[in-house]
Amino acid sequence: LFITLEGPEGAGKTTAAVEIKRELETLGFDVMMTREPGGIKIAEKIREVILDPTHTEMDSRTEALLYAAARRQHLAEKVEPALKEGRVVLCDRFIDSSLAYQGHARGLGIDEVWSINQFAIGSMMPDCTLYFDITPLEGLKRIEQNLGREVNRLDLEGMAFHDKVYEGYQILQERFPERMQRIDASQSLEKVTADSIKVLSAVLRK
Ligand code: C5P
Ligand code: MG
Repeated sequence: LFITLEGPEGAGKTTAAVEIKRELETLGFDVMMTREPGGIKIAEKIREVILDPTHTEMDSRTEALLYAAARRQHLAEKVEPALKEGRVVLCDRFIDSSLAYQGHARGLGIDEVWSINQFAIGSMMPDCTLYFDITPLEGLKRIEQNLGREVNRLDLEGMAFHDKVYEGYQILQERFPERMQRIDASQSLEKVTADSIKVLSAVLRK
């Protein structure tokens, strides 16, 4: 089963993923946790290129193509083999991030970004996506408190960009109501984990 975690900056995806993994393991599942962009050597290198704060000249289409390339390699090298072994894959960000960030917020178009990603992933869509819903303001407040977090090029973006990302995720949720399950990410970590497990238990039982 292929599960992805999505949502804006500061939604708590990375923190919750660790807890969700632990809970699923308690329930007897073999879970592999990974992240995008990155997760393997080549994709981590592409991540560095994309997120380097000095790369202010990066063109939006170049950015979208690099994300798609990193996604392809990560999928082929790490995600697909794990799924073939029958493991549950828990991936921090996937195609919806590209649709929301590059497609909607950067203005490339959700359908355009969808098409380059189709080339990258084929039919490998997630079985379930936990959409961590938090307002940009609340999310960014959390990031300011998380001093250990790596600085990246997206930190240079203003509030208008983050509002667009949020809007993008809302559009996606309307487009994929079955696959994208909304989690209220403004809640405590315990509650976010419990809600996520409730959603995933139903999916895993199918
Ligand atoms: O969630 P994580 O901290 O790993 O994301 C790293 C950065 O990459 C974030 O600032 C995120 O907004 C950005 N990103 C992006 N477009 C994507 C995926 C991530 O701008 N498709
Ligand atoms: Mg994160």
